[in-house]
Amino acid sequence: MPYFLIIIGFVLLVLLVMLFRTLQVSGNTPMSSTTDLLTVDSKKTAEHLAEAIRFKTISKLSMDETDFKPFKNYHQWLEKTYPKLHAVLKKESVNQHSLLYYWKGTNAGLKPVLFAGHLDVVPVEEVTLSAWHADPFKGEIKQGFIWGRGALDMKNHTIGMFDAVETLAASGFQPKRDIYFALGQDEEISGKDGAKSIAALLKKRGIQLAAVLDEGGMISHGLVPGVETPVALIGVGEKEYVTVNLTTKGTPGHSSNPPRQTAIGVLARAIALLDDNPFEARPELAIETLKRIAYLFPFSTRFVLANTWLLKPALVKQLEKRVQTNALIRTTHAATVIKGGIKDNILPAEACAKINFRLLPGDSQETVLQHIRKVVDDPRVEAAIDVADAWGPSKVSTINTPAYKTLELVIRQVFGDIPAAPYLLMFATDARHYQEVSEQLYHFSPLSMETEDMGRMHGIDERISVDALAGMVKFYARLLKVWGEAEF
Ligand SMILES: [Zn+2]
Repeated sequence: MPYFLIIIGFVLLVLLVMLFRTLQVSGNTPMSSTTDLLTVDSKKTAEHLAEAIRFKTISKLSMDETDFKPFKNYHQWLEKTYPKLHAVLKKESVNQHSLLYYWKGTNAGLKPVLFAGHLDVVPVEEVTLSAWHADPFKGEIKQGFIWGRGALDMKNHTIGMFDAVETLAASGFQPKRDIYFALGQDEEISGKDGAKSIAALLKKRGIQLAAVLDEGGMISHGLVPGVETPVALIGVGEKEYVTVNLTTKGTPGHSSNPPRQTAIGVLARAIALLDDNPFEARPELAIETLKRIAYLFPFSTRFVLANTWLLKPALVKQLEKRVQTNALIRTTHAATVIKGGIKDNILPAEACAKINFRLLPGDSQETVLQHIRKVVDDPRVEAAIDVADAWGPSKVSTINTPAYKTLELVIRQVFGDIPAAPYLLMFATDARHYQEVSEQLYHFSPLSMETEDMGRMHGIDERISVDALAGMVKFYARLLKVWGEAEF
């Protein structure tokens, strides 16, 4: 037989196998059983959030600048608004302004779970005020939305949880396992006095948690390119945050007889080299996410996803095209600050830049420095970790746990039979502080978000719909029951 026929036959066979694999792709969504969900007074819940927004619990860059009066007032308001909760749960203050609530379970043999949140919000920039369609701290309810700073990040979570607990506590419900609610005061600036201190306190008391739920994932509407239907994205890890200071030195002098490169030139070359030589792509975790929802994609993408054994390079090329998906598959870097020189005719004595890295699990401060040394390869460039701006690393939680599986189940019970997939969070949250006391940290904000809504967080016109907020109460009430009673 001529060779070319053998080759054609082989290619056809491979194509057939690939096609077969593509047709095998199917949904992994078991139908949830119907269940009784909490009836929520959505008007009352909306008013609760509107009132909460009025407390200007703003995190300023340094602790000394923060005005803690609104925090104190917010604490008192919570106590007044949720009397049943405060009668049944034990409350303690941590570092005065963070709160830890403890709901005692009936079975001390079960490991507790913790619901994390934060009391603080980011400031509203003065120059953006005129672009807002509501006063960010007035707590306005209009057009079916509650408007203001913290409506999405994350006073809505606190209200969702507390409205749920208030109703459950009033009905006489008591969980089997202990449940904690931890509300930090400074998530937006580090979490040091809030979540970090709370985690340290729990550790000191010898408490190990079965699972932690914090903000992060959501029901995505159009956030996954090519998928039209809603998908519940559950965060199972965070990218580590590392800033590196690059410094170059020069001899100060007159710029009329300069060396071939000044300190600024050397630094600029180093940054250009880093930009031209990004970290290698490691798409495994992203592929796992995409494979779980592969059946939702058009045929062409499904074909690629079903055959990553052969088409991984093509998939990586595709993912690299968008900054959002590129960040899912590699450790990224961005030069964010540069300084050097004082006058146009003086040679600079020093130039420095900050390069912000976001690390995929598996990379570390050490691999970042190695990468810089290898790529820049210039002894004149000093690279040092900025210890004030380096956190992590964050472990990736496993999804093969009863806590994860029941979380998925509750999402479907409350929001309909939507597909769910684990993914890696691009930003940092308080949850990383709880790694010491829990192996399983999950991120899920129980509401639908569109791309536009993502920009509202920390941005202009932050708001949540009255219905979405009621959905959050239903979700927390259901999860509190399921996690509260499940024997894991
Ligand atoms: Zn937040």
